Amino acid sequence: MNRTAGLPRDTEVSFPDGNAIIIAGNTLFRVYNGMLARHCPALAAQVNASAEFISGCPVVRITDTPHDIKQILRVDNPTRPPADSQPFSVLAAWVRIGTKYDMGKLVDHAIGQLQSLFPACLPEWDDRGNPESRHGFAGANAIEALNLFQATKRFEMVPAAVYRCCQLAPAVVRNGTTRADGTRERLSRKNIDLVARAKERSKEHGARMIEECEEQLEQAESCSYSWGFPDGCAEVISHLGYTEENGKEAWRDGDPLNSRFLHYVDEQEDGKDYQSRDDFANCMGACSNCIEEVHEQLGVMRAVVWNDLPAMAGVDQEIGYWCRGVCDD
Ligand SMILES: [Zn+2]
Repeated sequence: MNRTAGLPRDTEVSFPDGNAIIIAGNTLFRVYNGMLARHCPALAAQVNASAEFISGCPVVRITDTPHDIKQILRVDNPTRPPADSQPFSVLAAWVRIGTKYDMGKLVDHAIGQLQSLFPACLPEWDDRGNPESRHGFAGANAIEALNLFQATKRFEMVPAAVYRCCQLAPAVVRNGTTRADGTRERLSRKNIDLVARAKERSKEHGARMIEECEEQLEQAESCSYSWGFPDGCAEVISHLGYTEENGKEAWRDGDPLNSRFLHYVDEQEDGKDYQSRDDFANCMGACSNCIEEVHEQLGVMRAVVWNDLPAMAGVDQEIGYWCRGVCDD
């Protein structure tokens, strides 16, 4: 019996005269054994050891999805992967398959690109240059990312993945999502509980930050407008401390690293260098020293959240590198 009858044959990365067959899921790939040996030696070894032949070609059946296997066969030279930004689905496949078949360079490269989405450093998290659009990343992909980083022991990327999962609708966390190739991707019971606890903790951090803003935000000792106003920038800073909006809603809802309030703070900077007391009539905001002081105070509050992420994600024991607090570089 021909067990390949009716199997869809890949036409994208296969060659009609290939001499080795890979069957992934329900798709048949026909490749050159020599090319495969350079491309993915571990898979080539499986082909060579196979006792199953079709039309004289050795056959290996693998449990990986056709989508994933296609992503590695598509790379011309996995030891020198293409430098341009790849979609998240491709990077995830490279990490998944590359880890399994020992393709270290391809995995390192994919992890390097994924770090912009799942950094281990707060300034990197803040200065992300929209990696979501660069890598075609949708929020629900965080579920695939969390499973992937746990399975491949990329512990330093787990905290940001858990934090991203916290931002998903509870139904998505419970029911999971669908990978690029249609594979269902669900969180384990344990991970659903982990994300729920992390979400609660995030809300606690958010509430703490709102409280600390009221109690602690103050103007700089070196306020440059104190000679223009008796209270310097106190009124503006007090507004920043007590407003419950302008981005603080996100903190309360479990996204204490949300940066909208930081941008709002920037918008309150007047920043002009006043020469006379009369000029202050048009002054609308705070001096740059006070705005900088507020940013420093917020930076300390946010660093507490960031430093708690490994514990919230349950990887504080496993994690190798985690940039605590505010980075110097
Ligand atoms: Zn000031």
